[in-house]
Amino acid sequence: MKIGVLALQGAFREHVAMLRRLGVETVEVRLPGELDDLDGLIIPGGESTTMLRLMGLYGLDDAIRAFEAPIFGTCAGMIVLDRDRLGLIDLVVERNAFGRQVASFEAPLQIEGEAEPFTAVFIRAPWVADAGPGVATLAEIDGHPVLAREGRILVASFHPELTDDTRVHERFLEIVREEQGVRA
Ligand code: GLN
Repeated sequence: MKIGVLALQGAFREHVAMLRRLGVETVEVRLPGELDDLDGLIIPGGESTTMLRLMGLYGLDDAIRAFEAPIFGTCAGMIVLDRDRLGLIDLVVERNAFGRQVASFEAPLQIEGEAEPFTAVFIRAPWVADAGPGVATLAEIDGHPVLAREGRILVASFHPELTDDTRVHERFLEIVREEQGVRA
């Protein structure tokens, strides 16, 4: 299994470190050709406007739209995947709208299928304003999804790469394995 991490901007190093800890072969992606033999892609948190601009400059927006394997977007990575941007998940995301009073916070999350709560780190996180019927919510805060999946696309509005807890990344790797089974 080989997973790419989009490395244009933002918290990509932390994702690479976490994947390596999980024993997964990982590559930093900066050019469209680097997507070719990947089994999955992570789009990290950072600044979505800057990331989208850089993606456009390098032709990575079209390349990621055409990429067929699973994608995991965290925070800014979730924003770039939404209905109005790359259009790969049927969510409408509002930037920086999560907890207007406290821009950044930690919260214990109850994730579907997990016995123990996950300590989620939110940093100027996106707010899901609308989710289409195909989107499954795996964790929520005040009725708003913060971890969601639609088919091969997984998104988190928080930063699982900034904690020692590997469970959300492991979930993504399970989706990658499922898809490999389907495509084999
Ligand atoms: N606020 C950032 C944006 O709008 C996202 C924050 C993050 O990725 N931690 O792009």
